[in-house]
Amino acid sequence: MDPFQTPLVYLKGVGQSRAEVLKKELGLANLEDLLRHFPFRYIDRTRFYKVKDIQADLPYVQVLARIVNKQVLGEKHTKRLVVNAKDDTGILELVWFKGINWIEKTLIPGQVYVIFGKPGFFNGQAQMAHPEMEAYTPANMQRQGNATLQPVYNSTEKLKQFQLDSKGIQKLTSALLGLHAKDIRENLPLYIVNKFKLLNRADAYRNIHFPADANLLNEAILRLKFEELFLLQLKLLRNKLLHTQKFKGNVFNTVGHYFNDFYHHKLPFPLTGAQKRVLKEIRQDTQRGVQMNRLLQGDVGSGKTVVALMSMLIAVDNGFQTCIMAPTEILATQHYQTIVSLVGDDFIEVALLTGSTKQKDRKILHEKLENGELKILIGTHALIEDKVQFKNLGFVVIDEQHRFGVEQRAKLWRKNIVPPHILVMTATPIPRTLAMTLYGDLDVSVIDELPVGRKPIQTLHFYENQRLRMFGSMKKEIALGRQIYVVYPLIQESEKLDLKNLEDGIEAMSREFPSPTYNLSIVHGKMKPSEKETEMQRFIKHETQIMVATTVIEVGVNVPNASVMIIENAERFGLSQLHQLRGRVGRGAEQSYCILMSSHKLSNDGKIRLDTMVKTNNGFEISEIDLQLRGPGNLDGTQQSGILDLKVANLATDQELLIKVRKCVEQIFEKDPQLALSENQVLHHAFQGNNSGLSWDKIS
Ligand code: ADP
Ligand code: MG
Repeated sequence: MDPFQTPLVYLKGVGQSRAEVLKKELGLANLEDLLRHFPFRYIDRTRFYKVKDIQADLPYVQVLARIVNKQVLGEKHTKRLVVNAKDDTGILELVWFKGINWIEKTLIPGQVYVIFGKPGFFNGQAQMAHPEMEAYTPANMQRQGNATLQPVYNSTEKLKQFQLDSKGIQKLTSALLGLHAKDIRENLPLYIVNKFKLLNRADAYRNIHFPADANLLNEAILRLKFEELFLLQLKLLRNKLLHTQKFKGNVFNTVGHYFNDFYHHKLPFPLTGAQKRVLKEIRQDTQRGVQMNRLLQGDVGSGKTVVALMSMLIAVDNGFQTCIMAPTEILATQHYQTIVSLVGDDFIEVALLTGSTKQKDRKILHEKLENGELKILIGTHALIEDKVQFKNLGFVVIDEQHRFGVEQRAKLWRKNIVPPHILVMTATPIPRTLAMTLYGDLDVSVIDELPVGRKPIQTLHFYENQRLRMFGSMKKEIALGRQIYVVYPLIQESEKLDLKNLEDGIEAMSREFPSPTYNLSIVHGKMKPSEKETEMQRFIKHETQIMVATTVIEVGVNVPNASVMIIENAERFGLSQLHQLRGRVGRGAEQSYCILMSSHKLSNDGKIRLDTMVKTNNGFEISEIDLQLRGPGNLDGTQQSGILDLKVANLATDQELLIKVRKCVEQIFEKDPQLALSENQVLHHAFQGNNSGLSWDKIS
């Protein structure tokens, strides 16, 4: 049996009650857990401070001094032990409020101690409360000589009651390594360890806990990061490989009249280079006889829908049915309208299926799907939730990745014996390295180029005192015949406050833009869908000039005539949300603007967010900054993905390493897809057992 699976209770120095509290407070159950409970920082114990050099703002320091006297002062709750320690530069006062009797007994006047703690000052006197004390001997000085960086571990108040503060945990870790370091086996192929000059695994674990020096600490961390990313990529790429082996795909071997007719006679503009490239990628995927699973990332307005449509036409040319699935009814309807307007009336039938499709229409639809007459269907979840049966569904487009889980995708696959090809579109670009991990098992296409002639949106950041200027700009744009969005934040936790914000905002807008000169559409989350729809339609039909809304419009409407996006309390929005909102304008030929309104009180991050928006229109650049600001787990579209909970590596700061690792794993699979070579033998352990994959027992 793997010794690291031994419950902690059996480790010397733990016992029943400590084992329980370690489990409860830190989730540590076995030796592996403890071994992987890494220090969160280290204290440099190479340097000794002189008493006169101590300052209040220093972190933990150590002092070499002789105890000159000790006394217990005060009564009951003021009771404390005060000890004076002296070196050749001055006196340091040491104070204990707890454990007084025991400590008082152990400290020996006249003896020199290594004193370690966080210094402070009281009435001009240098002090330390509850320092660590170690009697000075040549032997312990020597030991400190080779353990220079002292680990500091996470602990809790509760754990401290069991003497499991950082120091206590350190003792356990030290005991554990003493007993079992020899059992830590290498889990990377030797040629990889050598090629990347990695520390071997056992040394890495030793040194991350007890670094021999700063250099080795860095190497230990690097090695463990490498290992973590490597094993994750190994799993992801292996899943991808297995998937291609397991799922056959429909072969689209012709490009026929639907595609060609559309391309030559209907497409109203030349495709961008990026659109062509992606079409080519999809074309290649769908000829291989393997199911395609492709993620298409591209900013709002980059022209994903056209690419999707043209891919669908190829599917139709090959006799298959296709569908687009959108997260909301509004979006589905919009796709429907876009596509109908692109293909025209008599070219091909396109149908819409949502929650509000009438029963009798639905029945006809179902029939046409079952007998294969209908080739292009657009809809919401209704597509998969309903008893919708296709005759031969060959190609599925899913819009807005993060709202559809893996499970829902799987449901689609089951709609055919040979699963349809899947194209997932997202307008929330995420950094390349995140995509590699989050969608590591998908192929990723990127449209990183906007159609030519599109005028970049100009973004301005206004403070509250520039509101009059903002009103002025609004009136000017309306006079030119344009329309305007005004968006207020809506955050669940303070719905009341937000509603108040919105109401105040509406009032102010109504005052500034009175009817009958102006008309406002108002849309917020508390309205019935039918009311929302009516208000949206009024705006779409240009019966109103201003749409005042909460973020419900975020993933919605396409109104090319709208040229101004005003975002109130912009500092309260996340970067990707701001970017999404801004993407609502700039869809027509006119110069568009985005105005970010904020108060003067801005947090550091808030300032960076707004500056970023002013500086760039590029969604990928924005997502990189978002990643730096918020970390991997918090980006829109990445929530609840346990896959990003890495322990050592950090996807925001370790991007270079990840790219290196990914390439390395790709090369391994290229050379040895079955991992059959003896040099890769060790990797098989990574695939045993559950899918967490990073667990010690599965890899050591
Ligand atoms: P996305 O889905 O990526 O947000 P759309 O496909 O809806 O973008 O395209 C946005 C707008 O740009 C649409 O009006 C579309 O007709 C137009 N468009 C798409 N591709 C091009 C192109 N190559 N040249 C000019 N306009 C384009
Ligand atoms: Mg779109």
